[in-house]
Amino acid sequence: TNRTFTMLKPDSLEKGNTGAILEKINAAGFRIVAMKMTQMSTKDAETFYAVHNERPFFRELVEYMTRGPIVAAILEKDNAVEDFRTLIGATNPADAAEGTIRKLYAASMGENAVHGSDSDENAEIEGNFHFSGREQF
Ligand code: ATP
Repeated sequence: TNRTFTMLKPDSLEKGNTGAILEKINAAGFRIVAMKMTQMSTKDAETFYAVHNERPFFRELVEYMTRGPIVAAILEKDNAVEDFRTLIGATNPADAAEGTIRKLYAASMGENAVHGSDSDENAEIEGNFHFSGREQF
């Protein structure tokens, strides 16, 4: 598909970076087709990140993602998944390219400002996790 799913993670909202990050997303040519501010419950985060549940950072990740509100969105663009991952940069901001969202706004591997789906299949699953059909335009 031509859609991906993103979350502006709690650190982005805490630092007041929501508008600046959305501006970067807009300037890169993504159209917002769903968006909301919400807070994930512990169960939500455990489900969303279930693929990581054996990893040593899993509890830290769940604590981080539930500690405050996030902005969740579905984005549309040709080649959306790959182009969005290019826009956000490497998982570890120390490795992220100049000008990427993580280079500009992420503090560390554990607090890395944004999420971007890693495949078309996961984009659909993750978008549907946060949005009903009526909320996707
Ligand atoms: P995301 O799925 O959030 O877009 P990603 O695909 O770049 O990130 P993953 O390897 O899927 O990275 O890890 C998911 C999230 O788990 C990361 O974004 C980060 O918040 C956290 N994470 C990953 N590795 C570590 C680590 N070594 N220590 C702490 N947190 C980590």
